[in-house]
Amino acid sequence: MFEQVEAFYRPASVREAVRLLQSCKGRARVVAGGTDVVVEAGHAVRFLIDITHTGLSYIRRKDGACVIGATTTMAGLEESAVVRGLAGGLLARAAATCGSMQVRNLATLGGNMANGSPAADLATVLLALDAEVVVAGAAGRKKLPVGEYLAQGAAGGMRKSLLVEAIIPRPAGGKRRGWSFQKLGRTALDISLVNVAAGIQLDAAGRVKWVRIALGAVAPTAIRARAAEEKLTGRKLDGALLAEACEAVMGAVDPISDQRASAAYRRRMSGLLAGRAVEECAAQAGCVL
Ligand SMILES: Cc1cc2nc3c(=O)[nH]c(=O)nc-3n(C[C@H](O)[C@H](O)[C@H](O)COP(=O)(O)OP(=O)(O)OC[C@H]3O[C@@H](n4cnc5c(N)ncnc54)[C@H](O)[C@@H]3O)c2cc1C
Repeated sequence: MFEQVEAFYRPASVREAVRLLQSCKGRARVVAGGTDVVVEAGHAVRFLIDITHTGLSYIRRKDGACVIGATTTMAGLEESAVVRGLAGGLLARAAATCGSMQVRNLATLGGNMANGSPAADLATVLLALDAEVVVAGAAGRKKLPVGEYLAQGAAGGMRKSLLVEAIIPRPAGGKRRGWSFQKLGRTALDISLVNVAAGIQLDAAGRVKWVRIALGAVAPTAIRARAAEEKLTGRKLDGALLAEACEAVMGAVDPISDQRASAAYRRRMSGLLAGRAVEECAAQAGCVL
């Protein structure tokens, strides 16, 4: 599997890990939980850099935000009271759907974001939560919005960088709020054919004050359905408006056909799951559609 590997490193700090990544000239692969690395093991890989001893397994509250270190596992997210208490437990719920318990005990948030899979469940959720990530590279650390990180990663611009942590801002307060994570896979253990993360806030009259709809596995990276969000914002939520928003979602996605599903099926399911997500959010916000 890794016949060509010449060295396995276990740095004790982010700085050391970044230095190794830089010095290995594109032939190194970071290993966190290893659940993707072992599947995609490539012959070009000469050096493996295990980052699980770099001090990046933490979940902290900082200035109202929730800060999650890159090597925090799916199981750690599922169990964390802080993550379960954030945005209706959206991130904990999504983590709980990722593979089997054995996978979740190893798989990390950072690996999920960095592996470049369009179906990465946490990427969709972090997009809906307006999260940012901190990345460490040769020029030091920088903070960028999740959408930008995913786009740069897909373009190959993150190969010599280490994802350090994700920062989830505290969602704005208010009573009439709701959150939903929807996932469709061939089996409970399979990756998503389509996933949707959504959040909504209604005003006292039932008008949409704030909404986020993000989708995964239907474009090269997780995306926000901005046209659907715009349709909903400021309007009273009812069945007709929801149908319009679902049409907008189906118009926004750009899925591929593969061994799991056709593009047409994924498109149709995008609308359906987005509709279910908004309905679930609305019900939590006290509006039954
Ligand atoms: C049976 C099975 C079921 C799965 N089911 C799901 C599922 O339902 N949903 C889902 O989203 N995923 C699923 N996955 C995929 C995988 O488990 C997740 O994407 C997981 O989060 C990857 O994390 P990891 O720590 O194992 O990453 P690794 O395998 O260690 O790394 C993945 C990639 O990211 C890079 N990397 C890792 N950490 C960093 C970092 N901090 N900075 C920079 N680069 C980094 C690695 O070099 C590698 O390219 C499944 C995998 C398996 C094997």
